[in-house]
Amino acid sequence: ATSAGDSTLREVFQHSVTSGSGGGLPLLIQRTLSKQVSLIECIGKGRYGEVWKGVWHGEHVAVKIFFTRDEQSWKRETEIYSTVLLRHENILGYIGSDMTSRNSCTQLWLLTHFYPLGSLFDHLSRTALSHYDMVNICLSIANGLVHLHTEIHGTEGKPAIAHRDLKSKNILVRINGTCVIADFGLAVLHTQSTGKIDLGTNPKVGTKRYMAPEVLDESINLECFEALRRADIYALGLIFWEVCRRTVSSGIAEEYKIPYYDVVPSDPSFEDMRKVVCTDNYRPSIPNRWSSDPILSGMAKLMRECWHQNPNVRLSVLRIKKTIQKLSASDHKVPFSYEDEVCV
Ligand code: ADP
Ligand code: MG
Ligand code: MG
Repeated sequence: ATSAGDSTLREVFQHSVTSGSGGGLPLLIQRTLSKQVSLIECIGKGRYGEVWKGVWHGEHVAVKIFFTRDEQSWKRETEIYSTVLLRHENILGYIGSDMTSRNSCTQLWLLTHFYPLGSLFDHLSRTALSHYDMVNICLSIANGLVHLHTEIHGTEGKPAIAHRDLKSKNILVRINGTCVIADFGLAVLHTQSTGKIDLGTNPKVGTKRYMAPEVLDESINLECFEALRRADIYALGLIFWEVCRRTVSSGIAEEYKIPYYDVVPSDPSFEDMRKVVCTDNYRPSIPNRWSSDPILSGMAKLMRECWHQNPNVRLSVLRIKKTIQKLSASDHKVPFSYEDEVCV
C-alpha cells in the first residue's frame, strides 16, 4: 500500500490500530492485503467498479475493486464493515480493505467472503424454490435487516444502520440457501443517545427501481432515521415479491422478473419510476395462484404492508420476521426454527 493509502485507511478507522472487534483484520495486516491475494476471474462489473473471485491464504475470497471516482462508496463500506458488532450470520462476512497502487493507479480494495451462488437475483433467475427455500431466504434477509436496523447500546454496541440500496442484486446466497445482505456503499448510521444521523458524504443515491414513493417524490425527511428504515422496508417488500414468484405450489411457479418489469423500461429514469409508483400508485401484481397457498397468500399480505404508499403504516422488520416465522410454523411442510444470534 502507498503512504497515501495508509493515511486514508487510518482516517477510515479513526486512528485505531485495529479495525475494531466488529469486522476485519487488524489495520497493520489490512495494509498488505492486496499483496496476499491472487485474482482469478471477474465475476461482476458495474458502473462503479468490479468484483473478482480471488484466493487468499488458500481460501476463495471476493475482491471488490472500486474506481477511484467512487472512493466515497469504498470509504463508507469500509467504515460500515468496521463497525463494532456488525458481524452477523446474515451480513456479508468482511475480511478487510486496502488502498494500493498498481501501475501508478490507485486501487481501492474490499475483501469479503466469497459466495459461489452469487446474488439472489442470479439465484432466482436460475432456480425455482420450495416453500422451505422461500422461507429460508426471506427469513434470513429479515434477520439480517433486524440486526442492521437495531441499535445495540453500550460501549461495545452498534449504531442503527439503514441500508438504502436493498435489492436482489445486493443480497448473496449461501450454499445452504440462507442469505446475507451486502453492498453498504450508501448505508447511514444513527445513534439515538446523540440523535446524530451520519449520512456520509456519498453523492450517490440508491437504485431507482427500488426507491420508495417518498424518495421518488422527494417528500422523505432525511433528518428522520425512522424514515430511512421505512424506505428499506419498501424495498424488502419488492424483494419478497421476486422470491415468492419463484416459489412452487401445485407444480407451478412464475418465471423470474425484476419488480416493475411490466411498466418501466430497463434502466428507468427517476420520472418513469415516479409516475408508476407515486402518481399511478401501481405495485407488482400478485398472481392468482398465490391465493390458494396459505404461505404465499400470507407473504402477499406481508409485501402489501411493506410497500404501502404511506410509510407510517409499513411494518418494522422485527414484526416482519415474526410474521414469517408464524407463517412457516403454521405450514407443516416447513419445519423451521430460527435462532436470534449475534456472532461477535
Ligand atoms: P456494486 O456496489 O458495484 O453494486 P456489489 O457489492 O453489489 O457492488 O457487487 C456487485 C455484484 O458482484 C453483486 O451483485 C454480486 O453478483 C457479485 N458479488 C459481490 N460480492 C460477492 C461475493 N462476496 N461473492 C459472490 N459474488 C459477489
Ligand atoms: Mg450492488
Ligand atoms: Mg453499491
